[in-house]
Amino acid sequence: MSSRSRVQTPSVSAYGRPPRLVLLFVVLTALGVAAAAAVILVVVRQADEAHAERTAADHAHFAATAVLAPNLRTSDLTTVIPAARRAQLDRLLRRRVLLDGIQSATLYGTKGRAVYATAGAKTSRRATAVLMNEALSGVTVSEAARSPDGSRILRTYVPVADPAGTVKGVVRLDQSRTPIAATARNSLLIAGVLEGLLVLLFIALVPVLGRASTRIRAQLEELAYVATHDELTGMPNRYAFRRMADTALRTVDSAALMLVDLDGFSKINSSLGSAAGDRLLIDAGIRLTRELSPDYAVIARLGEDEFGVLCEAADVESAEWVARRIRRALGAPLEIDGVRMAVDVDVGVALYPGHGADLEGLLGHAATALVSAKGEGTSGVQVYDPATHSAHDNHRLTIAADLRDALEMGQLSVHYQPQSDLLTHRIRGVEALVRWEHPQRGLLTAGEFITDVERSGLAQELRRFVVSTAARQWQEWHALGLDLELAVNLSAIDLLDPALPDEIEDATSRHGMPPWNLVLEITERTFVRDERRARQVVDQLGRIGVRFSIDDFGTGYSSLASLRSFPIHQLKLDRSLLADVPGDEAAEAIVGGSVEIAHGLGALVVAEGIEDLAQLQFASAIGCDIAQGYLIGAPAPADELLGLLDTPRLVPLSIA
Ligand code: C2E
Ligand code: MG
Ligand code: MG
Repeated sequence: MSSRSRVQTPSVSAYGRPPRLVLLFVVLTALGVAAAAAVILVVVRQADEAHAERTAADHAHFAATAVLAPNLRTSDLTTVIPAARRAQLDRLLRRRVLLDGIQSATLYGTKGRAVYATAGAKTSRRATAVLMNEALSGVTVSEAARSPDGSRILRTYVPVADPAGTVKGVVRLDQSRTPIAATARNSLLIAGVLEGLLVLLFIALVPVLGRASTRIRAQLEELAYVATHDELTGMPNRYAFRRMADTALRTVDSAALMLVDLDGFSKINSSLGSAAGDRLLIDAGIRLTRELSPDYAVIARLGEDEFGVLCEAADVESAEWVARRIRRALGAPLEIDGVRMAVDVDVGVALYPGHGADLEGLLGHAATALVSAKGEGTSGVQVYDPATHSAHDNHRLTIAADLRDALEMGQLSVHYQPQSDLLTHRIRGVEALVRWEHPQRGLLTAGEFITDVERSGLAQELRRFVVSTAARQWQEWHALGLDLELAVNLSAIDLLDPALPDEIEDATSRHGMPPWNLVLEITERTFVRDERRARQVVDQLGRIGVRFSIDDFGTGYSSLASLRSFPIHQLKLDRSLLADVPGDEAAEAIVGGSVEIAHGLGALVVAEGIEDLAQLQFASAIGCDIAQGYLIGAPAPADELLGLLDTPRLVPLSIA
């Protein structure tokens, strides 16, 4: 087996490379400017030429009507011109008409028949019929034509009228087009210069655009980096992992997807502070990357203390071998702030393609395997096993789907468990515990589905249901003259929900419940998880006046330091702590110590899971303030509880 896995890691940055937008913009704009310039040149040229032609035609019209016509005789247009008269006309035309580009002249009679032409005039005897007819009807017209020597000319037909306005004939003047073309060329030159300036301006803008482009690219690259990397460790993040792993899976025949979880992270984070927690995570990232080169495996930080690895592994044995290496590497002791410590590492593994053909499937199965890896008596490495795990997977999926229906169809209800005051032996409060009347599985207790609720994303809906149901129930009891403390459990994610304070305020005020009658139970794990964010919600709730209880105390990792800074009203000693009392000296010492701590913090102590009299007596003797458990009363629907709540002295008198 090779010591390195051969999954070729696609580069993270390859996914985020921004396109060269500005380059594209420059090229397209340059092409656009060039096309616009060409169109402008053609249009200007045509307009100028038309204008120059009109001017030339006007000139011909003037020469014919103002200079030639007054010197013509009627006979010049009707009869064949005698030689002497012809010589006269030749002279006249040479001196006064054939100037400024007018090259030749031809006279036509009323029938359009040529009667006279200067030297160089085209010899055809009849002019273009259409133009001649127009000229004979009194309109000056012109056309572009070619002279006998092939040069381009402008030919203008000017009507010649007698003083009464009757057209007697037509003068045709042929002009060289050279001056016309020259005029057009001149304006073309001006247009060209202007366009040149435009292009120069554009070229001058290119460096500016280039700089803007570089800056935009740099910013986009930075954004792409931030989006694909974990800020703390600089490793690819969950998003990048998904993309890279997805791509890598398409190029290998077999692979192993591993979820690596640092077991003692929250303990270190809460006891040594978040700076130490950060150092631990950075160090874990470095060790992981050193152990499995990122050239051969996709490695990322997926969440708080969870890392993801995709590497080649053909079978369960080779996957386990890599997972054990990871455990060894991350589990080796390290020193933080002079404190030597080691974390426990759990690895959940799913194999491709055996356990899933796509990334989603593999991630889900690796997560299931990780849960098993964390269980008691395992080696800390667990490869997904379809035979034992699929039932768990399916159960989780169906429960999430079913729960949606349950909320809509009213299958959920709230049971209440009484809490007895150990001083007065009266019921001082109740804890609301959610129940699910499952159509197939019967009545489910909270413990059977609450973790699935948290995973399914329905925690908020469930909380709203429980809070409003319990507050309404409190109002009913209050109407009967009972003044109870109402405890409601919160999930880990509830305290991260900024909507919670408003929701609690609404529910209490809607049911006329003083907020201090509401006790929110949060577990130790909840409040060490994201202390900073949870803190804001807790402070807001504190301002409203509700109180807090630390549930299941003794099972989590809460440090005394974090307890001190938390506004606690009650500390609930977990059932497991009281299970072995009286009798087990260590358990007794822990319970005794916890009671002292709680009292020192000004909090009341609730003993949970009191099932027999001996436990109750011990709890009472050691200083617990409140007892809760089957001995006092099991959780029950509100109406079944009423008899109990009314009883003045509930606890057996023998210990009172
Ligand atoms: P918890 O808050 O510690 O609630 C006490 C659990 O212990 C309840 O289980 C209760 O039925 C059980 N219990 C009470 N007395 C005794 C006893 O004497 N002996 C034994 N063996 N068990 C006893 P349940 O109802 O299954 O609730 C389990 C956990 O689920 C609760 O632990 C609480 O953390 C959570 N939970 C319950 N209701 C809700 C809810 O509405 N929302 C949220 N987020 N969590 C809830
Ligand atoms: Mg509770
Ligand atoms: Mg509890």
